Amino acid sequence: MIYNTAPGSGGRRITLPDHRTKIVSTIGPASRSCEVLVRMIQAGMNVARLNLAHGTFEEHRENIRNIRAASEETGLPVTILIDLPGPKIRVGALAEEPMILQKGESVTLVPAAASDDPFTIPVDFEQFPQMVSPGSTIYLGDGFLQVQVEEAREREVMARVVLGGPLLSRKGVSVIGGESVLAVSAPTPRDLECIEFGLSEGLDVFGISFVRRAEDIRRAREHAARFGKSIHVIAKIERAEALANIDAILQETDGVMIARGDLGIQTPIEDVPIVQKRIILKANILGRPVITATQMLMSMTENIRPTRAEVTDVANAILDGTDAVMLSEETSIGNHPVETVAMMAKIARSTEASRQVIGTGSATLEHFRQGMERERITVNDVVSLNVIQALDALGIRYVLTPTRSGTTPRSISRFKPAAWILAFTRSPETFRFLAFSCGVCPFLVKSEKDYRHRAILDMIRESGLVAPGERVVLTEGVSPGGRGTNSLVILTLD
Ligand code: PGA
Ligand code: MN
Repeated sequence: MIYNTAPGSGGRRITLPDHRTKIVSTIGPASRSCEVLVRMIQAGMNVARLNLAHGTFEEHRENIRNIRAASEETGLPVTILIDLPGPKIRVGALAEEPMILQKGESVTLVPAAASDDPFTIPVDFEQFPQMVSPGSTIYLGDGFLQVQVEEAREREVMARVVLGGPLLSRKGVSVIGGESVLAVSAPTPRDLECIEFGLSEGLDVFGISFVRRAEDIRRAREHAARFGKSIHVIAKIERAEALANIDAILQETDGVMIARGDLGIQTPIEDVPIVQKRIILKANILGRPVITATQMLMSMTENIRPTRAEVTDVANAILDGTDAVMLSEETSIGNHPVETVAMMAKIARSTEASRQVIGTGSATLEHFRQGMERERITVNDVVSLNVIQALDALGIRYVLTPTRSGTTPRSISRFKPAAWILAFTRSPETFRFLAFSCGVCPFLVKSEKDYRHRAILDMIRESGLVAPGERVVLTEGVSPGGRGTNSLVILTLD
């Protein structure tokens, strides 16, 4: 489907995916085998997410090996995202899984990493009993299960089930209206350990959970810098404080995730749709890739077909301008991981085909056309706006962008054009992070020679993508001695 090696490697034909929105899938017991991973990649997965709130480093090491082997086998690139656990209280290891909670029955919660009593819920936070008082409501998981505290003793909490259902180990525990452990800042010491683990595995994209402000992101970067590494960071927006500091966070971060699961607990659930739209627009304006996450095709965890509401949710996130859509339980523990990825890809293809007609994506263009914050407009903004104009006016299907940092392809991608953005870079880090940007197909080129215009144009001619006489847009940096893209040319290929 996709192919991304060095251009000029001798008449290789290129087949682009049939959808432009990127697909992030969480890898877990249902999807960690090489065989399933191969099929997920072929179905359209671009990013494999490892949620370090679950599993041991040893298990994740094996996941990484399998993902790399599957990528090798398919010849298709996959970027691995290490998602840090963050300061979240979780259910410990249950004696029996699932533990069925019945409405009205009483349960005991104890601060412990695990429990061997099938009627006790271990909570992996020592001070947990001190966080609650009689009357507090505790959400387990994303709030599908709720218990109300009746008595809080030194080492145990008695509660009554308000909303019952099956409970799994490692589900989140949120005390509503109580003193929150989220006062602890991210990244936590455990997060820093996970960063070291990722670096030692040669990984460089990290999701930071429960970000409060730009400073949290800088601390993660500084930690990696101690090991001589520079990382790409995705700020997960899932608490009220992050919403208050969203502009500074977006300035600092490389990418952003609308983590709707915790967001819908930490802030009013009915605000989630508008928050999603606002963050997507802000992220697009700054050219930061944005992932819309959680419960997108939730019912496919069980069923082979999604609900209409879920399909519509995915489509609406795409029409809002999201770069990527994410699957969590659907692919980590679900019954149909491959079919779920394939369904995402189908919804994306169908929705993207009507994007221009429906007229979304234009909000970002409008922002620039109305000249808001004009004093802050950069050379890159001007070049990308001109690229979009050329694409529209001439019906061009491909933009070729040689890039060091990925800024140029991202600044074009934010307008979600119908054209494909083919990005050529010598940096493996840039190549991997472009996996998050809608409509960008990155190519890792081996040598400076392959990065020159002639080599790129030769490759495009050989790729079978363009017809003879077809026009393409090429961006370039022509300033003498300068770096960075500052112009565009429109070429007719012979
Ligand atoms: P999580 O993040 O799956 O790590 O909790 C996503 C979310 O909260 O929506
Ligand atoms: Mn979360």
